[in-house]
Amino acid sequence: MAGIEIPRRRRVRSARPVTPPPTVSLVIPAFNEETTIERCLLAALRQTQAPREVIVVDNRSTDGTAAVARRVAESHPGAGVRILRQFDVQGLVPTRNAGFAAARGDIIGRIDADSVIAPDWVEHVSRAMGDPAIGAVTGPVTYYDVPLFGSSSVSDDLVRRPLWHLGKSRCPFLYGSNMAIRAQAWRAIEGSACPDHDDVLHEDIDLAVHLKETGIRVAYVPRMRAGVSARRIESSPSAFRAYTHRFNATYESHGIDHWTLRAPRHLLQGLFWGLRSASSLTPSSATRKADADLGLSRKV
Ligand SMILES: [Zn+2]
Repeated sequence: MAGIEIPRRRRVRSARPVTPPPTVSLVIPAFNEETTIERCLLAALRQTQAPREVIVVDNRSTDGTAAVARRVAESHPGAGVRILRQFDVQGLVPTRNAGFAAARGDIIGRIDADSVIAPDWVEHVSRAMGDPAIGAVTGPVTYYDVPLFGSSSVSDDLVRRPLWHLGKSRCPFLYGSNMAIRAQAWRAIEGSACPDHDDVLHEDIDLAVHLKETGIRVAYVPRMRAGVSARRIESSPSAFRAYTHRFNATYESHGIDHWTLRAPRHLLQGLFWGLRSASSLTPSSATRKADADLGLSRKV
């Protein structure tokens, strides 16, 4: 019986509990966006980490926005595309809020209908939010219909990153075309964020202001990249000035004043003519490439 060998007990490694990554809902407010919403949705659905849901909030659109969004939803069954209607009142803030109220994820990604998020956007947002101290994140953008700025996000990041470091001690910013907020953080500021009935503020910066007032940290994440249209430069110089004035109006209405917080306005105004002459808003090669990547063959 000496031949019987008792096998040594194998050491069992203690299994670490695997924490699933936080879920991400994407919210896209949309008013007459039939020309951009398809590109936006396809990019939102082609992610290395799938979002829990993608919510389009149609705000009184009179064009084919809802029809285009429904078509994308039908061609992606099970992807969680939801189309909501906010027809009570015209405006970005109530439309955004309706989307936030409907979102069921741990994190609410907030982008615009002309945003084209990078394929690893959800992954990077989810990873950055792995730090429980961070309540909201924002990142750089490219202008896909401006040849000069469309090829990479370097140009925007070069400007945005120093601005971030200059201003963050006084007030960080969030950029509505490329941002995400923890659902819990949104609930903490929901009651105090400005309704902006007169439509004179930047609602994204307003969120950043209220997060700071509540002691919730906002982070700049260079890896969460999104393309946006530079369509605002189509507007008249005075309309563009009014748009950029919103930066000051938002900070001043909250009693915040420092030269660094005026920098984005001056920067945008300085870029205005340069961008206009550089683009003429013709589809750049970057736009065509983005469309080809997303399976969109039509010209924009
Ligand atoms: Zn406010």
